Amino acid sequence: MSSYTKQYWLEKNANLEIESRAFIAGKFVDALNSETYAVVNPATKEQIANVVACTEQDVDTAVKHARDSFEQGIWANQSPSDRKAVMKRLAELIREHQEELALLESINVGKPIMDAMNVDILGAAACFDWYAEAIDKIYGEVAPTDGLNIATITKEPVGVVGAIVPWNFPLDLAAWKLAPALISGNSVVLKPAEQSPHTALRIAALAKEAGLPDGVLSVVTGHGHIVGKAMGLHNDIDCITFTGSTPTAKLLMGYSAESNMKPVWPETGGKSPNLIFGDCELDNAVEHAAMGIFFNQGEVCSANSRILVECSIKDAFIQKLKVKAESMVVGDPMDPDTQVGALIDSNHAAKVRTYIQEALDEGAILVTGGLGDCTTNSVPPTILDNVTPEMNIAREEVFGPVVVIMPFDDQEDAIRLANDSIYGLAASVWTTNLNRAHLVSKRLKAGTVSVNTMDALDMSTPFGGYKQSGFGRDLSLHAFDKFTQLKTTWIKLG
Ligand code: NAD
Repeated sequence: MSSYTKQYWLEKNANLEIESRAFIAGKFVDALNSETYAVVNPATKEQIANVVACTEQDVDTAVKHARDSFEQGIWANQSPSDRKAVMKRLAELIREHQEELALLESINVGKPIMDAMNVDILGAAACFDWYAEAIDKIYGEVAPTDGLNIATITKEPVGVVGAIVPWNFPLDLAAWKLAPALISGNSVVLKPAEQSPHTALRIAALAKEAGLPDGVLSVVTGHGHIVGKAMGLHNDIDCITFTGSTPTAKLLMGYSAESNMKPVWPETGGKSPNLIFGDCELDNAVEHAAMGIFFNQGEVCSANSRILVECSIKDAFIQKLKVKAESMVVGDPMDPDTQVGALIDSNHAAKVRTYIQEALDEGAILVTGGLGDCTTNSVPPTILDNVTPEMNIAREEVFGPVVVIMPFDDQEDAIRLANDSIYGLAASVWTTNLNRAHLVSKRLKAGTVSVNTMDALDMSTPFGGYKQSGFGRDLSLHAFDKFTQLKTTWIKLG
C-alpha cells in the first residue's frame, strides 16, 4: 500500500520548477530565433510550459560542441573506470530526484504517477548503473596470426551520436540510448519528443552535476520535422539511434542516404500477438494479457494488442479478461490508485476512438470499454471480439488501451495468424506444454518471445524487432554494437 496521496502530488506539482530551455554546451539556452511552443498536460489539458523550439542552427551548434568535446577527448579519453564513476553518480542523482522526475514525466505524458515512480524513473537509473558496471569489463580481441604479425581488434566510439526518442517512456528510452552511447565515450545530441521534453532536460543538468563535461551531452527540444530532420541530415552526426514510429524511421533512413550515410538504428512500432493455448494456466494468462495491453494506456511499442485464443477456451478467456479490464482504475494520473491515465494528446485520443468506432462499424463486438468520455483524453480498457485479420484494427498499431480477440483452431493456425503482420517486435505464448513452448517460440517472427510471462524485459537481454519493427537493439551488451566501430590494427613485426 503506497503512502503517497493525490494531495501530496498536487501540492508538489504546484511548487514544481520547470526548465524549458534547450541544453547546449552545458548551459540552458533559448533558440537562436527565440521561438517556443506550448507543452500541455494531457490529463488536465492545461498548458505546462513554453518550451524552446530549436532550429537547424541550434542543432548545428549542439553538434559542433559534441564534435569538439569528442575530438578533444575530454570524455572519450577518460579511463573506463572514471566514466563509470560519473555514470554511477548520475544513476544515484536520478534516484535522489525520483519524485521530481516522476512528476515531470506524468504531467508531460499523462501516465499514472506511481508507474512513473516505480517503472520509468527507477528503470532509467538501473540502466545507467548497468552500463556503468559493464564498461570496465569489456576487452578487445587479438586475431590468430603467425608469429611475425600481431592484429588487434578494438572497439572505438563512433563519435557524435544523435538520439531521437518518443513520448511513451521519455526518460527510460532516453536512458536506453544515452547510457551505452555515453559510457562508451561518445558525445550525444538528444532530441526528446515535442510532448515530453522535461525529464530529458532535467537529466542533462543532472549529468553535468554528476561530472559529465560540457558539450558531451546536449538536449535539443522542438519539432520532429525541424530538429529531428536536421539531425538526420547532419553531415557531422556519425549515427542516429531512434525510437519512434515506422514512418519516421523510414524518413531518417532517407535523410541518411541524402547526407553522410550514417547508420540509422530504428526501434519502431508493433502489433504484437499474444497466443493463448487451451492448455495454459488460464487465470495467469488473463492477468498478464490485461497488463500486456492496458499498462501505460496501451502506449507501449510491444503492447500485446492481438490476442489469439484457442477456440476451446475462448468464451472463458473473454469472460475473465472482461472482469479484469473492468476492475482497472481509469482516472487522474496524480491519484496513486490510478492504473490507466490519459492518452498523450487530444489528437491521439481521437485517433484511438476512430479505430474503435471503425472496428465496430465493420462488425466487431464491444466486450467492454469503448469511446469513453470524449471530452477527456482517457479511453477505458477496451476489448473487441469478432475481429477478422483483414480489419485495420487487427493490422495497424493503435497505441491505446484496445485489444482485439481472434480465435484459432490449432497450433499451425495460431502461428500463421501471429506472423501475419508487417511488424515483429514481441510475442507471448501461454501453454503448459514444453514442446509447444519451444516449437512455437522458434517459429514466431519477433525480437522477443515471452513464454508464460508478458513483455519479458531485462537490462541483460536485447530489445528490438524483426521486420518493420526496426533492426536496432537496445539494452544488453549488444547495444554497444550501435555506438562503437571495429578497428583492426595490424602490426608486422621485424
Ligand atoms: P514519432 O515517430 O512520431 O516520433 C518519435 C520521435 O521522432 C520524436 O522525437 C519526434 O519529434 C521525431 N520526429 C518526428 N518527425 C521527424 C522527422 N521528420 N525527422 C526526424 N525526427 C522526427 O513517434 P511517437 O508518436 O513519438 O512514438 C510512438 C511510436 O514509437 C510508436 O510507433 C511506438 O511503437 C514507437 N515505439 C517503439 C519502441 C521500440 O523500442 N521499438 C519503443 C517505444 C515506442
